[in-house]
Amino acid sequence: MRALALLLALAPLTGCGDEPPAQAPRAPAPPAAGQLAAPPPIVLITLDTIRREHLSCYGYFRATTPRLDAFAAESLVFERALASMASTLPSHLTLLTGLYPHQHGMTSNRRGASVPFTSEVGRLSAAAVLAQCGYRTAAFVSASPLSLTTGIQTGFQHYSYRERSAAARQRAGDTNALVFEWLERHAAEPGPLFLWVHYFDTHEPNEPPPPYDTRYQTDERQRQWIRERGIDPAALEQRYSRSSSARRHFLRNPPEAARDEGKSGKLRVTLDSVAELMNRYDGSLSYLDENLGALFDALRRHGLYHEALIVVVGDHGQSLGENTWLGHGTITNVNTFVPLLLRLPDSLAMAPQRSATLVSLTDVMPTLLARFELPNSELLSGQFEGEDVLSGAFARDFALTERTADAPKDGESGRQFALLSGAWKYIHRPEGQDELYDLAAGGEFVDVLAQHPEVGARLRAETLTLLARRPALLEEARGEVDARLIEQLEDLGYGGGDDEGPDEPSDD
Ligand SMILES: [Zn+2]
Repeated sequence: MRALALLLALAPLTGCGDEPPAQAPRAPAPPAAGQLAAPPPIVLITLDTIRREHLSCYGYFRATTPRLDAFAAESLVFERALASMASTLPSHLTLLTGLYPHQHGMTSNRRGASVPFTSEVGRLSAAAVLAQCGYRTAAFVSASPLSLTTGIQTGFQHYSYRERSAAARQRAGDTNALVFEWLERHAAEPGPLFLWVHYFDTHEPNEPPPPYDTRYQTDERQRQWIRERGIDPAALEQRYSRSSSARRHFLRNPPEAARDEGKSGKLRVTLDSVAELMNRYDGSLSYLDENLGALFDALRRHGLYHEALIVVVGDHGQSLGENTWLGHGTITNVNTFVPLLLRLPDSLAMAPQRSATLVSLTDVMPTLLARFELPNSELLSGQFEGEDVLSGAFARDFALTERTADAPKDGESGRQFALLSGAWKYIHRPEGQDELYDLAAGGEFVDVLAQHPEVGARLRAETLTLLARRPALLEEARGEVDARLIEQLEDLGYGGGDDEGPDEPSDD
């Protein structure tokens, strides 16, 4: 039976984000993992704006991520991991607290500019608790949504954040240089290490350094892939018709045929300009992968690679034209399903596997901390909304994702929550109409709530229960706002009230 269960867990690669039918048997629980004799090193590697389907270890048609593929071959690979929000700061705080954004309180990037996160009972940061329990804590982040203003550095004894430009982002190679220098000086010191490294290279505008900028070229195979994803350039052109600055964040140097000849220099969305965006995205991804490999090598040099709990995870996806959207921020599947890979210490002797079980980023920290005893960490383990997915008894069959409070200008407004369960996706709008989608039939845009009222009632009840559980009491934003951070967020495309979408209407 156990062998059969393991076989079933080895689900085939879907590659295109296909979802199992709603009525299909649930994927078996991920395998059980044992416990370590002592607190191990923990390495958390977060990849910003990472589109799961563009990673070769998640089935992409290009070999974009050979170093990560090699890591995946010796890890647990989760094929259905759901981010709590397609927004950088909220999603990272979910990783650190094991809580959904409505529970840890940081419901948008811009909120971080006025109400910093504080680690307190009920929403403790694992970094703060690990530091109190004898860990050495160090973080290296690469962009302003994780700047010091936001409070996310709480608990990190060393927090590296450098402002290299107005947009305050740095390349993986520069982040790595700081990590490697720190490891040289401190890796051998006594006490287990909690190391967090954040990379930002796949966030738009996707301008990778040579030779990655020209590594991928449009061909018929790629055009076919774009068509298979249902990307509609004409619909994109319409949606972004009044937003020149959003176009500039994504589109580059279109061939002459793609220019709107009537309006000099205007960037138009065509199938080939989407392909060109993807070429730069994939180049950014390959550059990131090369640096990720260099980080793995550094962990090996310092004796950490085989001993540590190592997590590689995306904070959210990127639409790249799908669902008539270029960026992130919305609660579509391409924005909220992320890669999640976990390499356990060699001493746990866990065979590499792929799991099709639906898991949430709220589960990451509970799963890590369940692998060893950590005296005096009860307040933290008691606050988790997520669960240990490697307990051998993991049976939760739903996960929640929330829409950022920085409303993207996609024609939607107000708060939105999505509960995923089997192949059902239930959208709850506290100020509007709820909807139900069958991802196995009709996908995310054919509302079937009227056809399945009993399913809708069940998922609505589950959603409301989850939202009522320990919601953070949100403070009102103070009068003072970090204007510099707001400016940096806007440089990254998080324009006034926007999150990664078309910003102010513009006629140019
Ligand atoms: Zn992000």
